[in-house]
Amino acid sequence: MANLSIPFHINESMTSTALITGITGQDGYYLSRLLLDKGYRVVGLVPPDRQESVTKLDDLADRVDIYSVDLTDSQALRLAVEQLLPTEVYNLAAPSFVPDSWADPLGTLDLITGTATRLLDAIRAVKLRTRFYQASSSEIFGDVQSAPQSEQTPFRPKNPYGAAKLHAHWTMVHHREHYGLYACSGILYNHESPRRPPQFVTRKISLAAASIKLGLTDRLVMGNLDAKRDWGFAGDYVQAMWQMLQMKAPDDYVIGTGCLHTVRDLVAAAFAAVDLDWTGYVEVDPTLIRADEHFQLVANPTKAKQKLQWTPQVSFEELIEHMVRQDLERLQAGTVAPLGGHSS
Ligand code: GDP
Repeated sequence: MANLSIPFHINESMTSTALITGITGQDGYYLSRLLLDKGYRVVGLVPPDRQESVTKLDDLADRVDIYSVDLTDSQALRLAVEQLLPTEVYNLAAPSFVPDSWADPLGTLDLITGTATRLLDAIRAVKLRTRFYQASSSEIFGDVQSAPQSEQTPFRPKNPYGAAKLHAHWTMVHHREHYGLYACSGILYNHESPRRPPQFVTRKISLAAASIKLGLTDRLVMGNLDAKRDWGFAGDYVQAMWQMLQMKAPDDYVIGTGCLHTVRDLVAAAFAAVDLDWTGYVEVDPTLIRADEHFQLVANPTKAKQKLQWTPQVSFEELIEHMVRQDLERLQAGTVAPLGGHSS
């Protein structure tokens, strides 16, 4: 394939600048913290109608520069790239809760694929030697025929979110191969933290276990306890993102722990963290069970281990205990509402 390498401008400033979309999400927080600790200037692009989400950056809010930019506006993105001259761009923006993508497939596609395309086009147009990270997802494997999955596993997305992530992934590959951009994709499995919203199963369970421990609620209603996932700690995964952009050559990497746990394991670990026997509190509501969940999404992170020397530092049990402890503290401080009973 033709490689239309273009002459690049070089960002001459001494400080590296990282431009992050989706900075106010879970990964944006951990990535910003990592990059600030490394001495980067961190800049976040936040859509005009989501400015209030900057408060989610908590202690980092004063340490990052936030610009109000509509991610669907190509001109505005190009201007941002032209003026900020980022050394690295991390494209994390996406509606993260997968089931929501059925309600708005086109909006999902535009936010995920459109933003990636517009950013890559902007880097190319401005002729920067910027390195680009695309937040890809295990959802691009979807209906898997084998486990674990590696960079060689065929992509068979099963929902609009996965399809959009796959389109963004290929768009990034095209820019790398056709234009010679330094662009990488991190195919990340479920990664969690106390910053996860409670519609995700890890946080739903940690918040409920803490709420029950404090006597604020008395039961937790769950979907499929046999569902399995490869869960890791978000703080470990942002380290892999950064490492991908420090390599000699750009490439794509599967990032996960390689270990499967059931939702039942998760519930047991969370309740054990507060010395409770989960069987006395947890009920299953069949209406919360998702159809078609027989597949096993589990990573084979061998390439990341060998090439990036990346290994997750926080175990499943440590992650869940950390999340429950944080929720206990927040409930006691009154900074979150209790959770229990029936919620999705
Ligand atoms: P996902 O992997 O992006 O869909 O992340 P989630 O945290 O939403 O779901 C992880 C797994 O937990 C899926 O297999 C769900 O079917 C399963 N699960 C079981 N009970 C629940 C529940 O009550 N809420 C959620 N969100 N997931 C549940």
